[in-house]
Order: sequence, then structure tokens, then C-alpha cells
Amino acid sequence: MRGFIDTHTHLGDAQFDSDREAVLARAAVAGVGRLVEIADEPAQWDRAISLARAHPGRMRCALGLHPYYADRYDDGFLARLKAALDATPEAVAVGEIGLDYAKSQIPREVQRHAFSALLKAGRDWGAPLVIHCRDAYLDLVLMLKERFPVVPPKGRRFWGVVHCFSGTPEEAEACAALGFALGADGPVTYKKNDSLREAFRLTGPGVTVLETDSPYLPPQSSRGKRNEPESVAEIAARLAEVWNIPIEEVARLTSANADDLFRWSR
Ligand SMILES: [Zn+2]
Ligand SMILES: [Zn+2]
Repeated sequence: MRGFIDTHTHLGDAQFDSDREAVLARAAVAGVGRLVEIADEPAQWDRAISLARAHPGRMRCALGLHPYYADRYDDGFLARLKAALDATPEAVAVGEIGLDYAKSQIPREVQRHAFSALLKAGRDWGAPLVIHCRDAYLDLVLMLKERFPVVPPKGRRFWGVVHCFSGTPEEAEACAALGFALGADGPVTYKKNDSLREAFRLTGPGVTVLETDSPYLPPQSSRGKRNEPESVAEIAARLAEVWNIPIEEVARLTSANADDLFRWSR
């Protein structure tokens, strides 16, 4: 077993300033071999790139514009993003980008404008997309249908990932049918989240990737605390029950999905 991949971390967060390397060491002990660090806005890009560079073979990064910052999208944004991606072999995806109708203070039409342009750019560049979506699945599925009317080209299984998937089972199937992987996080372990587990049961291990969104979204056993990549193991254990397969199979299948998604082994 090559181990788990935590496909979504924010280890650049100040909450990890005092013990970042210890956190990575604990992740390794828990079987998390590789990680993808996500930068939410241009001021975080350099930090994510440095982290990935400091851990070659173990870490990659994604550069994006979170819907919390969608008002920073301007005419020059795409050119700056493309330049950063081209200059950075460690940067394997565009993200996170997306829609957040629950928490973002930015008007919805401003979020949609930035997201739509970033979706098109990512597709044109052949870059996988890391998508954030909260309380906006209706618009998300509409926009994905518009931008990705066909399945990914030969040699690619996914256009991107709907990270921390939190929609209904029907929305999960719609995203998967459009060529998007689904990210499973701590909430899949919460006692009350039967509907979310049903979404992952229906779509199955063939389209799921594991992620922690550390330091956010701790799983059931550490609710209220800072989350760490080592908790991927707890998420995988819960999914092993949902799918009724051994946890080694969960690791193998979800890591193969992440490899295909980010084309890590190229
Ligand atoms: Zn997110
Ligand atoms: Zn995130």
C-alpha cells in the first residue's frame, strides 16, 4: 500500500506555525504519504509553493481564489495565475475556487463571475480544478454543465474535484457524471450525517478522494479541535464501513483517484 493522500490541506495556516513538521511526521505515521496544500488567494500562493518545495515528493500545491475573496478577481488575474502556474512545477491544480452562499460576504453574482472565468481558464489550460461549494449546489451543477459539456478527454478521468462534498446524493451523482471527483472530509464521520454517507455510498470509491481541509473540519473524534492530516485515517475507516471494503482498499482506490486527478505520477 502506497498510503493515503490528503488532497486538501491549509498547513500554511498560522495555527501550524509552532509544530508544522511534527504535524507532517504524525501524518506519515498515520499512513498519509502525500498531501496537496491549497492556497486560497494570491497573498498565500508563495507560502504554499514554499511548503511544497520544502517537501519534494511528498507535497504539491494548488493556487486559487476562494469565493471569500472573489471580489479580488480583475482583468489581470488570469494572466497572473497562469504565470505563477507556469513557473511552478509543484503547482498541480487551480483552486480552491467556487461558490459559497453560506459564509462568503461577496455578492453571489460577483462570485459567479470570478468562478465562471476560472472554470473556463482551468479547462483551457488543462489544469485540474479544486472546487469549493457551500449551499450553492444548484448553481454549481448548472455552471459545471455549461463549462464541461463533455467527459474528460482520453487519459484523464476527472476535470477536477468538488472538495469537501456536502450536497445531496443526487447532487453527488450529478457532479460525478460531469467528470468531477468528490472530496470526503471529517463531516462524513459525524453521527448525524447519514445523507452525506449515502451520497458517498451511491457514487462509490471510484470517484472519491480523501481530504482533511486541515486545520478545519475535524472528524468526530476530535470535534472542536484543530484538524490535522493524520485524521485522513479516521475518514477512511468510516468510508470502509460505508462501502464494506477493507481500509487498504479505500487507500488504494482513493489514492489512485487522486493520482489521476492531479496527474501526480506523470
Ligand atoms: Zn473549501
Ligand atoms: Zn480549503
